[in-house]
Amino acid sequence: MKKIILPLVLLLLLYCGYDQAFADRGRQYYEEAGQIIWEIKTEEKVIALTFDDGPHRKYTPAILDLLKEHDAKATFFIVGTNAEKNPDIVLRMFEEGHELANHTYTHSSRMKVPNLVDEIKRTHETIFSITGYHTTLFRPVEGVYTDELVDAVAKEGYKIVMWSWHLDTLDWKNIGVKKIVNFVLDGAKEGNVILFHDGGGNRQQTVKSLETILPKLKQEGYRFVTISELMEIQTSTEDEKFVEQNND
Ligand SMILES: [Zn+2]
Repeated sequence: MKKIILPLVLLLLLYCGYDQAFADRGRQYYEEAGQIIWEIKTEEKVIALTFDDGPHRKYTPAILDLLKEHDAKATFFIVGTNAEKNPDIVLRMFEEGHELANHTYTHSSRMKVPNLVDEIKRTHETIFSITGYHTTLFRPVEGVYTDELVDAVAKEGYKIVMWSWHLDTLDWKNIGVKKIVNFVLDGAKEGNVILFHDGGGNRQQTVKSLETILPKLKQEGYRFVTISELMEIQTSTEDEKFVEQNND
């Protein structure tokens, strides 16, 4: 009997250790719980453009000019230290109707959860002191999360925003304007969330790509909405489905 119990105990310990380190309840769980959003299912021609790691002194204003020109609203995942350096740009984003969201204070990867929560609070305070706006959306650095992180962030009143997996434009790798443009135009569908970067390096290619992407998608009938608007569309789509099902 002893011979069997020992391996079983070891196996159990191993399993628990594994579970602790890589805890992730999975996409379906988080989507149904409304704790994380990747994209939404809708037939409405809407797309959410998201920009990470800014604001940047040079590239963010250029992106804001383009968004304005094409009547597009976007969501900016702001790094607190960059907001402190560029309060005028943060204010401009806010005044032009874009959504301001939280992307940590220092953009360090693999932070311990309590430190991460502190950084979220600090960035929140910075953005609030500039605009009077309370951020409610958070994107983890490099999109890395654990159950522990999701729970801690939810406790602070935040929803986590990822992106459509096929629409990481890889603009941060400077893969070339043509590639970024084709990537987005070939992949973009109703309800998708596109990942761009306005900060964290040279973003000339991002700006150049948008010069083509924005008018082209607009021509195809797409409307560019913020993440909060996208979530409202999701709620109303679900409500309609519920009514339909109950009328059957
Ligand atoms: Zn980032």
